[in-house]
Amino acid sequence: MDSPFRWFEDQLQRLEEDGLRRTRRSVTSTGHGWCRIDGHSLCDFASNDYLGLAADPRLRKAAHDAVDDVGTGARASPLVSGRTDWHDQLEKRLARFEEAEAALLFPTGYAANVGTIAALVDEQDVVLTDRLNHASLIDGCRLSGARMRVIRHADIEQYERELKKAADARHRLIVTDGVFSMDGDLAPLVELAELAERFDAWLLVDEAHGTGVFGHHGRGVCELRGIHSPGLIRVGTLSKAVGAQGGFVVGPQSLIDWLWNRARTQVFSTALAPPCCAAALRAIDIIEQTPEMRIRLHHRCDDVRARLIDAGLPVPENATGPIIPVVIGDPQKTVRAAQVLFEDGFFVAAIRPPTVPRNTARLRLSLSLAHSDDDVDALTSTLIDVARTETP
Ligand code: PMP
Repeated sequence: MDSPFRWFEDQLQRLEEDGLRRTRRSVTSTGHGWCRIDGHSLCDFASNDYLGLAADPRLRKAAHDAVDDVGTGARASPLVSGRTDWHDQLEKRLARFEEAEAALLFPTGYAANVGTIAALVDEQDVVLTDRLNHASLIDGCRLSGARMRVIRHADIEQYERELKKAADARHRLIVTDGVFSMDGDLAPLVELAELAERFDAWLLVDEAHGTGVFGHHGRGVCELRGIHSPGLIRVGTLSKAVGAQGGFVVGPQSLIDWLWNRARTQVFSTALAPPCCAAALRAIDIIEQTPEMRIRLHHRCDDVRARLIDAGLPVPENATGPIIPVVIGDPQKTVRAAQVLFEDGFFVAAIRPPTVPRNTARLRLSLSLAHSDDDVDALTSTLIDVARTETP
């Protein structure tokens, strides 16, 4: 008799044939801008540790202190008994940092997006979501049950048309990434904020790749663009530039209290591990007090992007900041290019469908302050050689 799981074997075989099967890689050790995988020491250009804080001794020490204080895990959901003084301090600190009335922590950025959207809207409402939004935003929209309008990437006219049609809905919610994670471009937030006010909609911005990276104080793309709409809801993650783990939402107290009551991904999930809270607390101080880190990071990104474009590599022209995609198209060629880079000592992500649309497989470079100038220079030169052989 066939195995009851035969169907999965067939499907995996098809993924393999299409160059879309994902393999597991174990990082056996990691440090400031490097990692070790399958016995190779690699410069790590595949992580989101944009400011190089994940291995920073100050964050390590903070996390150790929290372990000594309360142990490793939070033991229960925040609503039951998992919420410690570390959570309280971090929520207050995040609210102050983001100049918001209040903040709420979630176990991850993914959980923050899913739980927040699903708690905000339901069948009586309309949610408008950019076609290139992160999976967590899409999943939140789907889970909410709200009428979902998928908008062509950054198409303001389509947003406007759909908002007009949604006049009869109880609530309208616009959902967008601040920085699009696979393309590195920024959302048209000024226009979206104007539409949100005109059509009495909430505007939810996922600042996952914006926090710590954009805006003078590192509050993200909303700060960069000067967005202060009354209906603004900002979601962030502590797992990228902040160098720790966890998600958060900032906004008015009433919104935060509602999410505390209704956001199922934090009500029914164990609270964030206290050492992550402690590390994030330390990171927020550093991010706020050292704007020169962001200036240095952006100089580095502008320089690398210009070199790749000058060399004729297919880098989308709207990309800005530390995410630099090189769109190769074919998944197999993309994986091959990533493998050559790997053998040369550089870890660069090969991103394939379904993470990105068909025929847009790409190498996705994440720059960080953890790298040395020499590492960045060597990666850029090698990438130019490798991508030229894989792009027509
Ligand atoms: N939003 C975006 C745009 C992301 O890229 C990610 C992480 N890949 C998330 C949310 C989820 O954040 P976390 O990793 O903290 O779950």
